[in-house]
Amino acid sequence: MKPRITVVGSINLDLVVHAARLPRPGETVTGATFARYPGGKGANQAVACARLGADVTMVGAVGKDGFAGEALAGLREAGVTLDVRESDEPTGVATIVVGEKGETVIVVAPGANADLAAFTLPAHDAVLCQLEIPDASVELAWESCDGLFCLNAAPARPVAVDPDLTVVNRFELDALTRRDGLVALTLGAEGAVLLEDGEEVARAAPPAVDAVDGTAAGDAFTACLLVSLVEGRNPDESLERACAAGAIAASRRGAQPSLPTTAEVDAILGA
Ligand code: ADP
Repeated sequence: MKPRITVVGSINLDLVVHAARLPRPGETVTGATFARYPGGKGANQAVACARLGADVTMVGAVGKDGFAGEALAGLREAGVTLDVRESDEPTGVATIVVGEKGETVIVVAPGANADLAAFTLPAHDAVLCQLEIPDASVELAWESCDGLFCLNAAPARPVAVDPDLTVVNRFELDALTRRDGLVALTLGAEGAVLLEDGEEVARAAPPAVDAVDGTAAGDAFTACLLVSLVEGRNPDESLERACAAGAIAASRRGAQPSLPTTAEVDAILGA
């Protein structure tokens, strides 16, 4: 049976401007190009879980505006069931300016994501949250979860929940208030370690790839680790698959378009 995963998290529209260079405060830089992409860590991880073969429901919020449909397009395309309420706040946006060398400045306006209040969860094997929604929403998801609760503690801040599985990168580790249960620590190109109650239980390195864009590598990793564990794979294999998924995402540009399928993870591990 397919793992049933409910993601409670953010849905954004990414507004991306490529400019020759980043402006200084007060300065105008012209001649840039502009594109819009569906994003938000919650939506990205929901799409990732679906591509990896899970039966996914997305719990989130968007505004009653023209951005909502675009922000939800990737979820719809991936076959995610939408349990998304319409808020009076605008759809969440991330305004991203990319300079010539790939350097970025990003401003996020959470909008409807900050307004994700009461919800009930559908039947699930696991619930997956990130920290782009209010503490109260993460706490409600944790209290309502009757399966495995996984938290990708990003962007890092302390929260009053006790996840079965926590995923962090090196920069997010310090903000963790609880380090019991399973903690996966990602190490970029070096791969990841899995700790159980502080003891290392698995370590994996990603396959060699030409990394072009680290966006969504952590999202692919988190989704693949959770889906693999819920599928009943052991910690070593699950971590190896998660590292492979992260590496594939790092080898492709963009967020949701770069997220791998099960077949792609199998292929790179079999290669
Ligand atoms: P985040 O994107 O959350 O900061 P990381 O950069 O640690 O997380 O990346 C998550 C995972 O993606 C890593 O554990 C690794 O498996 C894979 N990954 C990231 N960058 C690379 C890279 N340059 N080469 C190969 N794999 C990578």
